[in-house]
Amino acid sequence: MGSEKTEVIVLGGGFAGLSCAVALAEKGRKVLVLDKKPRLGGRAYSFSENGLDIDNGQHLFMGCYVATRRFLKTIGTEAKLDIYHDVVVDYAEAGGRRDRLACPSWLPAPLHLAAGLLGLKGVSLREKSALVAFDLALKAMKKGPIPEAIEKMTVRQWLSSLGISPNFQTRFFDPAAIGILNDKPEVASAAGFIQALRTMFFTGRESSRFALAKTGLSELYTDAARDYVEARGGRVISNAKAASLIEEGGRVRGIVTDMDSRFESGHVVSTLPPWDLKKLGLPAALRGPWETLTPAPIVGATIKLDRPVMTERFLGMLHTETHWVFNKTLIQNIKEDGQTLATVISGAHQHVGLSPEKILRIALKDLASCLPGFSAAKVLASKVVKEPFATLSPTPGAEAKRPEPGTGMPGFSFAGDWTRTGFPATIESACLSGRITAGLL
Ligand SMILES: Cc1cc2nc3c(=O)[nH]c(=O)nc-3n(C[C@H](O)[C@H](O)[C@H](O)COP(=O)(O)OP(=O)(O)OC[C@H]3O[C@@H](n4cnc5c(N)ncnc54)[C@H](O)[C@@H]3O)c2cc1C
Repeated sequence: MGSEKTEVIVLGGGFAGLSCAVALAEKGRKVLVLDKKPRLGGRAYSFSENGLDIDNGQHLFMGCYVATRRFLKTIGTEAKLDIYHDVVVDYAEAGGRRDRLACPSWLPAPLHLAAGLLGLKGVSLREKSALVAFDLALKAMKKGPIPEAIEKMTVRQWLSSLGISPNFQTRFFDPAAIGILNDKPEVASAAGFIQALRTMFFTGRESSRFALAKTGLSELYTDAARDYVEARGGRVISNAKAASLIEEGGRVRGIVTDMDSRFESGHVVSTLPPWDLKKLGLPAALRGPWETLTPAPIVGATIKLDRPVMTERFLGMLHTETHWVFNKTLIQNIKEDGQTLATVISGAHQHVGLSPEKILRIALKDLASCLPGFSAAKVLASKVVKEPFATLSPTPGAEAKRPEPGTGMPGFSFAGDWTRTGFPATIESACLSGRITAGLL
């Protein structure tokens, strides 16, 4: 059994752990990052297989991801993120029918969104009149806590209470909610949706811009973050699984790994997701309602075709099991004759148990129904990735169970995307939690 002493231990080498470690290293603190996996990146990583460069799932960033952008800037990789000037979303549905949300760049937020919504072809003028109620409701909750009555509602209940028609919900609100919250509008809480919308649309135009990585996810941040920490005297160790905390005199003083290595420290920051953290032998002071938080899955397929079938960067797919398709060839500027696509099914409770072959068949069927040229294309390679523990399922009531980042007990802090940062459990929540916690130490 080995034993080491360090200033701060950060458990987990995903966005939260690495952003926390980088922020601590920036302040001159000696930090040790431990991750149980052989690679860094947690739930946002990339790998190569079948001749394909694959992200474990397509990740969409937003202009309002301020902590994420700051983290990438610090480690020198911000230029690997493409932030698109125009706020445009194209939608495809069976038979090749198209619609487009185009938010004019000359209008300030949130008027640009209003103009974009008014321009949707598949929603009648009468249906669009409900936007007045939507706008008023959102403005009333521009800042501060969300009223208790709304906290208890799902996205579906809240939108319906504002008189937004099922058609309008299906064509704009559902794809947005499922993309942001990773669960169905019937399940996801209105509070999380409102939090995200008000940040995206009430904090300036820049906030509502979409951004995508020009490289694989791992290349975007993992090595650069490790180099940054190690160049400042810190260490990053993979294949090191924390099994329990060392607690003495009401204070956490380090961790013991499953290989019986002992790491002592002045402070432990955990960025472990709740379902991993609760497996550690935790002192009573750290236990709480957060232990009942549950995950929502995402499944996706990366598909290499012999020819191009779409020109957009990404498309929302309507009335299909697949929610989104991303054009990796365009996004990552891949030099190839054909085209590589990445499909996404969020809140995939019904799909995560299916075989990869079945998930691929669903993706191909949906693409064929929405993209007129797809049926002629030949699949050259593919890879399905299932992430059963993709994000927190943001059901009503879940928000109250999320501990604040940086809280915990003497010698120990909670962090991670699932802590209560004011954002749904996303990359931004992860990076922000890491930064807040580092700031409190
Ligand atoms: C398929 C998919 C698509 C997504 N799409 C988006 C998107 O479009 N936009 C967006 O913003 N977010 C998206 N997300 C969510 C985003 O990936 C997460 O919010 C973020 O990566 C979480 O980072 P984290 O550091 O908090 O947690 P994690 O990345 O889970 O990091 C925790 C780390 O702890 C390690 N660990 C666990 N147990 C132990 C232990 N006992 N000892 C040591 N280490 C341990 C794990 O190996 C892991 O590396 C998506 C997630 C998935 C899976």
